[in-house]
Amino acid sequence: MRSNSQQIIEQANRLIPGGVNSPARAFGAVGGTAIVMARGEGAMLLDVDGNRYIDYVLSWGPMILGHSHPAVVEALQKAVLDGTSFGTPTRNENRLAELLIDALPSVEMVRLVNSGTEATMSAIRLARGYTGRNRIIKFAGNYHGHVDSLLVAAGSAAATLSVPNSPGVTPGTAADTIVLPYNDPLAVAETFDQFGGELAAVIVEPVAGNMGCVIGTSGFLQTLRRETEKHGTVLIFDEVMSGFRVGYGGAQQRFGVMPDLTTLGKVIGGGLPVGAYGGKAEIMRHVLPVGKVFQAGTLSGNPLATAAGIATLEVLRETQPYAQLEQTTNRLAAGLLEAAKKHGIPANTACCGSMMTLFFNSQPVVDWNTAATCDTKRFARYFWAMANAGIYMPCSQFEALFLSIVHTDAMIEKTIAAAERFFAGDV
Ligand SMILES: *Cc1c(COP(=O)(O)O)cnc(C)c1O
Repeated sequence: MRSNSQQIIEQANRLIPGGVNSPARAFGAVGGTAIVMARGEGAMLLDVDGNRYIDYVLSWGPMILGHSHPAVVEALQKAVLDGTSFGTPTRNENRLAELLIDALPSVEMVRLVNSGTEATMSAIRLARGYTGRNRIIKFAGNYHGHVDSLLVAAGSAAATLSVPNSPGVTPGTAADTIVLPYNDPLAVAETFDQFGGELAAVIVEPVAGNMGCVIGTSGFLQTLRRETEKHGTVLIFDEVMSGFRVGYGGAQQRFGVMPDLTTLGKVIGGGLPVGAYGGKAEIMRHVLPVGKVFQAGTLSGNPLATAAGIATLEVLRETQPYAQLEQTTNRLAAGLLEAAKKHGIPANTACCGSMMTLFFNSQPVVDWNTAATCDTKRFARYFWAMANAGIYMPCSQFEALFLSIVHTDAMIEKTIAAAERFFAGDV
């Protein structure tokens, strides 16, 4: 049924560690062989054996317009004819920067980079350079890319693989990172009482997506804002996933809490490698060449990447699909939950904008400790039942599902029906 996938992965295993170029793509948490995709069409993926799937992974978030959206394809076709990289300033870098600054209420200046990891790495360096302090706070179950100092109690594939601390991250690097539980304002206040004057930055996913979808409570986010302001610490919202996903203005606009710096990625590249960090001009002016904090990139602001990003953001800005996206996402969540409940399966859902997770858990998931009590064995059976029914979901309980503007009601109904068939038989 998937013999071509099987064969390609067998070859990949000899060429590439684990057969994948990013660990979340291997099916470590669900077992079996990864499915090799050949083509994306709107909300559908086609694998190398000709099987079709409704795609709820969407490249782990970026493809909010679906695959091969005509506006993005056209922008890329045009851009490629003009040359793919110059290493000089280009007009489109201004255009993408302008779109980001206009959309995100706290962002006054922005730097383009090539990935979310680069964005968070650079934002942490900037916060340290700006404050002259070393220590940072991150939250258990939050993932900020594979930055050494942030690979402590990280979510995403690090969560799935139970690697609290990657080998290769030196104790010295990790020592300046304080890990606190998510959604725990008291722990934040206590840590600031103790270390306030030494804290360069707090980095947080305002909507966590890398332990499944977990929403930051307003008490938590407001405490972060209050304490960082009081102690001269830089508040960084990592909106690599939530930016242009939970709303056009990201989580900061949705919750009305303004960070000092914001990191971006995923949607802003429209499926090409892009990241960005931005925020208050007063802080951003500390970046080289105006300031002294070093950060650079041969391919930063790449013409193809900016073309895809601009095309994506312009469609989002002009069509404002967010209310519709949220409605579709809520319908999917409600349908899945009802189907689970009907068959006595303990479950919970969390949704924010067009991201959601069905947790196999009898208690609501609010942080990494509660996420860790999910029934991951049931999740693995669920994942394969759905895949075999033509529904491609993230291959871990601790990754969020994403919807696009081209997911239809019929697709949602088909998904819920497949889940219900699985729940009925999974005793
Ligand atoms: C995906 C993600 C990153 C890392 O981005 P990459 O482009 O994979 O390096 C960082 N932070 C968050 C919140 C993410 O979801």
